[in-house]
Amino acid sequence: MLCPVCRAGDTRVIDSRDDENAVRRRRECQACRHRFTTFERPEAPRLYVVKKDGRREAYSREKILGGLRKAVEKRPISGADVQAVADRVERELHARGESEIPSSVVGDLVMAELRRLDKVAYIRFASVYRSFTDVQSFQEELAQLLAKSE
Ligand SMILES: [Zn+2]
Repeated sequence: MLCPVCRAGDTRVIDSRDDENAVRRRRECQACRHRFTTFERPEAPRLYVVKKDGRREAYSREKILGGLRKAVEKRPISGADVQAVADRVERELHARGESEIPSSVVGDLVMAELRRLDKVAYIRFASVYRSFTDVQSFQEELAQLLAKSE
């Protein structure tokens, strides 16, 4: 840690205090005796979503909420349910401890949540997200779903 006044590298910690989210240190430059304060806190986690074509974009909760709202349209799902799904997806993403997450992982997490919440919403989301290229893959997905709900 360089002294902000004289740029000397020799500073001494004269006081250290733990706040809730940071460690606050009072330092004294051994060259010019200037005193200053530093804070140490965990870096705010920042998430990026990496798309199939390699493009990277900042994670957006709004985007997830948009997809969810479309999927649950006219279904008996409250706004609070939708927010709760977004919360759980976000927690999962942060729990991975990685700053870059493939968009497929985000989509799979959302699908897993919707599958539990509402089958119709799940199928709607899956049909857009997976953009079922042929009728067969869609039927397979439906068959799986029906088998599980029996
Ligand atoms: Zn100094």
